[in-house]
Amino acid sequence: MKLIAIVLFLLIPSASFAEDSRPPENIILLIGDGMGVSQISAGKIVNGHLNMERFKYLGLLTTYSANKLVTDSAASATAMATGYKTNNKMLSLSPQGMPLKTIIEYAQDKHKGTGLVATSSITHATPAAFAVHINSRKKYLQIAEQITQSHIDVLLGGGWGYFVPSTTSGSKRWDTKNLWAQLAVKTRVIKTAQEFNNLGEVNSLVGLFSKKHMPKTAKRKPDLAAMTQKAIEILAKNKNGFFLMVEGSQIDWGGHAEEQDYVTSEVIDFDKAVGVALDFAQSNKNTLIIVTSDHETGGFAIHDGSIKDKKITESAFTHSHHTAAMVPVFAYGPKAADFTGIGDNTKIGKNIISYINSEQ
Ligand code: MG
Ligand code: ZN
Repeated sequence: MKLIAIVLFLLIPSASFAEDSRPPENIILLIGDGMGVSQISAGKIVNGHLNMERFKYLGLLTTYSANKLVTDSAASATAMATGYKTNNKMLSLSPQGMPLKTIIEYAQDKHKGTGLVATSSITHATPAAFAVHINSRKKYLQIAEQITQSHIDVLLGGGWGYFVPSTTSGSKRWDTKNLWAQLAVKTRVIKTAQEFNNLGEVNSLVGLFSKKHMPKTAKRKPDLAAMTQKAIEILAKNKNGFFLMVEGSQIDWGGHAEEQDYVTSEVIDFDKAVGVALDFAQSNKNTLIIVTSDHETGGFAIHDGSIKDKKITESAFTHSHHTAAMVPVFAYGPKAADFTGIGDNTKIGKNIISYINSEQ
């Protein structure tokens, strides 16, 4: 009897460890820009529940950059995309200017599918850190040129203005380079929600639905969840698995604007995309889902309201910029336990790259 108990005790944990030790084939990293614990709390109060509650593995991450206690999105996205810290404003370059290899580049080495989805312009700091190497996040024209050369399979968000020549109405370029035409040679390119809805079968896709950033949730078409769904659908065709980054870009902008409703609606919208990713992972066991943030924005705090009425009646922002508060990280699927405890944001990049490299 005693022996059976011991054998069972030994078998149960080893079985779950064996499952845990396989590297995930598919990885979806969802980043809520500017999303701290208060922002998530606000989303939960107003929505009643969140898909983020479906996670069992949670941790906290420090977010400081190479040169500042308070990071910007460029340095933090670089830490997550490459596993290394850099200075604020820099994208996947070391503080000395050396290129830092990104998750996307490691994934492409293994012939995996790759994708970036955002509600900002695709040239904005967070998605750009996964696609380019440049010393300033503000160099949008060059960022668009590097994105065009990046061979990323799925790009969804805003920012077509950076890809069309200055002679085209709505262009954000000062030159006559036609990056849109270059992309159209390699992949399907679309600009409208209608084209998105009537897409049919594609193996890669560039869908940029606004000249610059996409509008706020109420007017955003397609929404982040639909773009995430489409990206997964396309990338899941790759036999070698895929890496997808999805950003809820505008939670941060609600914080900068010090607008509680902007923050809350963007958290709830982001959380729907989290639900789409989790649903996929539940039916595709080899999928790791990570949800985190690049930094907290606004020093946001909730002071009064009602759970019953799903309302926040009093809140405050201490500042219109980012803070140094640790951000939460949620993980589901193979290797999820690697993201528990208190760590640093470089752990996101380092872990994902090690999983990709450990695959045959
Ligand atoms: Mg961002
Ligand atoms: Zn910000």
